[in-house]
Amino acid sequence: MTAQLIRGPVVEKSIKEEIIQEVRKIKEYTGKCPGLSIILVGDNPVSRVSAAEKEKIAGELGFFSVVNNYPATITQEELIAVIEGQNNDERIHAIRVQLPLPDYLDEHRVIKAVDPEKDVDGLHPVNIGNLILSEGDTYIPIAPLACLKLFQHIQYDLNGKHAIVMGRSNIMGKPMSVLLLKENATVTLCHSRTSNLSEICRMADVLVVAIGRPHLVKKEWIKPGAVVIDVGLNRVGDKVLGDVDYEEVSEAAGFITPPGDVGAITDTMFMLNTLESFKKTL
Ligand code: NAP
Repeated sequence: MTAQLIRGPVVEKSIKEEIIQEVRKIKEYTGKCPGLSIILVGDNPVSRVSAAEKEKIAGELGFFSVVNNYPATITQEELIAVIEGQNNDERIHAIRVQLPLPDYLDEHRVIKAVDPEKDVDGLHPVNIGNLILSEGDTYIPIAPLACLKLFQHIQYDLNGKHAIVMGRSNIMGKPMSVLLLKENATVTLCHSRTSNLSEICRMADVLVVAIGRPHLVKKEWIKPGAVVIDVGLNRVGDKVLGDVDYEEVSEAAGFITPPGDVGAITDTMFMLNTLESFKKTL
């Protein structure tokens, strides 16, 4: 069997086109547009690239954006004051504090300082709580949202399927398992202490992998015909490898994402959530 590809860039293109149309129409009627703020602390090069990429995409989509880079001498209180200023700025509908923060800052306190209405990454306890409780408004964290869009793209019915999620991080594995549960899948959440990982994986109709271990998942781990979504992005030398051994797993899976394809649409998910936040203010 050779797996059918689930292509992130195809999904990205169609969602971006929809966003551009919608923003154009709203601008015509109201003169307003979605606005986002990215807060950087220190000089982490990956964070800088990520912020610049978001700024570029925001421009393409017709959003207003601002990137503020503070030195790694800013105090906790000063950073929280900056966030509070953005919480009260009507032009801003989304606030991204680029993680990881330097060690001397308390990441949890910083995340909690963002107004939940502007926390389009869905990391604030209020948003995570609402996601789990299926109550009120929430923003789905962007990497799991990207995975959901990929399932929708191939019109895959998750109802009753056994979905296995590898990795239990707050930004990916945990919210992913909640989303799959909402789609009526039976969910198993695995992590580094899971025993018999390969045997468990072989039971999956759907396998979502986000562990940060290049090529850990092999062909023998896959139930023939399974849907395999590889969220892993691992820089090895000059290559970016997934957590799934793409070449050999493609021979067993029914559907598979090429390495980096989930990552290709996560920024677009950030913009989609920003648009949602903006629309709530109209
Ligand atoms: P993380 O916070 O480091 O969490 C990794 C998870 O994987 C942990 O739950 C860990 O288990 C589990 N794990 C580690 N080694 C394992 C093993 N050998 N077997 C089973 N489970 C194992 O990672 P993350 O932030 O979720 O990211 C995971 C990967 O996805 C990374 O490659 C990252 O770059 C990628 N990612 C990409 C995007 C994007 O496309 N934009 C977004 C998010 C993540 P324990 O909890 O037991 O330690």
